[in-house]
Amino acid sequence: MEYRKAGEKNIKEYGFPVTIDEKLGTLQWVDLRELTLSYLICIENIAPFFENMREGKLVTTRCPECGEIFFPPQKDCPNCMISEMEWIELGREGTLETLTVVFVRPPTFARYDPYVVAIVRLDDGVKITAWLRGDPEKVKIGDRVRIEIKRREKEGHYMYEIVPVEG
Ligand SMILES: [Zn+2]
Repeated sequence: MEYRKAGEKNIKEYGFPVTIDEKLGTLQWVDLRELTLSYLICIENIAPFFENMREGKLVTTRCPECGEIFFPPQKDCPNCMISEMEWIELGREGTLETLTVVFVRPPTFARYDPYVVAIVRLDDGVKITAWLRGDPEKVKIGDRVRIEIKRREKEGHYMYEIVPVEG
């Protein structure tokens, strides 16, 4: 947070919390107020997803009518307009479809270093978007990968990640 330091310095010397943008050379106002954002998302209908993840299992919902598997789990099937979904456990291995390194992070991930987001197509056909653990230079599209569940370093909650399969 170099700009924050510059803002704090300039508010004393110059009277305003300003700094010069390194790339553009333009004058910038540094808002020194901190914004803490917290919100609620209802997960009542997909509680088994979280209960199973605590036990190291990855589950999701499948429509008993059309057979479509949804990930993340959904409580309703948009094709059949029914809510009686069944829970299934997903296989863990699949193929890497694509990946990208995120340098410009949203405020919610500002505390993280640049991270890798990837998409895996599991062997049962389900596509999962998740963070990829490890060096993005060492994997390529089509590589075998697997899903692992672990506690996220900074927040401490369980999450699934994509990990290259050795060998
Ligand atoms: Zn359906």
